[in-house]
Amino acid sequence: MDLSNENVIHKKEAGIEYLQFRKLLEYKDNITHAFTIGIDKDYRMPLYNSTQNRLTKEQIEENKNNYKKICKTIGIEYNDIVKTNQVHKDIIKNIDKKINIGSPDFCEKEYAETDGLITNKKKLAICATCADCIIMMMYDKKKKVVANVHSGWRGTVQKVAEKTICKMEELYNCNPKDIICCISPSIRNCHFEVGEDVKNIFEETFTTMADEIIKKQEKWYIDTVKLNIEMLKSKGLKEENIVDSKICTVCNSNLIHSYRGSNKHNGLEIGIIELK
Ligand SMILES: [Zn+2]
Repeated sequence: MDLSNENVIHKKEAGIEYLQFRKLLEYKDNITHAFTIGIDKDYRMPLYNSTQNRLTKEQIEENKNNYKKICKTIGIEYNDIVKTNQVHKDIIKNIDKKINIGSPDFCEKEYAETDGLITNKKKLAICATCADCIIMMMYDKKKKVVANVHSGWRGTVQKVAEKTICKMEELYNCNPKDIICCISPSIRNCHFEVGEDVKNIFEETFTTMADEIIKKQEKWYIDTVKLNIEMLKSKGLKEENIVDSKICTVCNSNLIHSYRGSNKHNGLEIGIIELK
């Protein structure tokens, strides 16, 4: 099955499957990016070094090999990788250089509690992982700044997308009109069912919400993608620069890791973006 649509291209090369956003490919002389898919162990990329995910040595090796595979396929150095812990909070950090020389930065303590990274430096392959949450890969085409942000429902409520744009403005004088934001496959409103407690949190946060919450048989379905799109528009991003993959991870859990859509949650997608 091919997930290509008007916004993304589904590629299968050298034993690896990934998506690329057509909009970001327009700037392929300046940036390299990918969003991995594929659900068997060849694509497993969990967060290691994390207390919730104690992996065996073999599994860690397997993960590293998968990171190496995607790096090789898209033409970036494995040692350029910078990957944060991601804890569903709103801390976004700017980075200027790697911590480790000669090996990737995986969940270093400097990036603990961090859900987003921003840089204007080359040779920093900033990564984020997800398995239903949204990853937003951003690029300011004028100031040549990239950001990569993890935003699940908790991140959406904490408005991490908006906070990332604010930080890009503050640190690099970015104009939101020049920022492209690509929204990864994620759980969509067809499947994002929540209880009353979560629904209430959304209603308290987004007071002007209209059709982002649908009630079906005493259950609520929330459109977190639309909420993020509206947030980005209100920050000044142009509609044509907000690019949605339009892919639900649960609907496509035969091809993409999905926390809700799979009984055996054994992997994650990785979004990766680097300035050339
Ligand atoms: Zn769905």
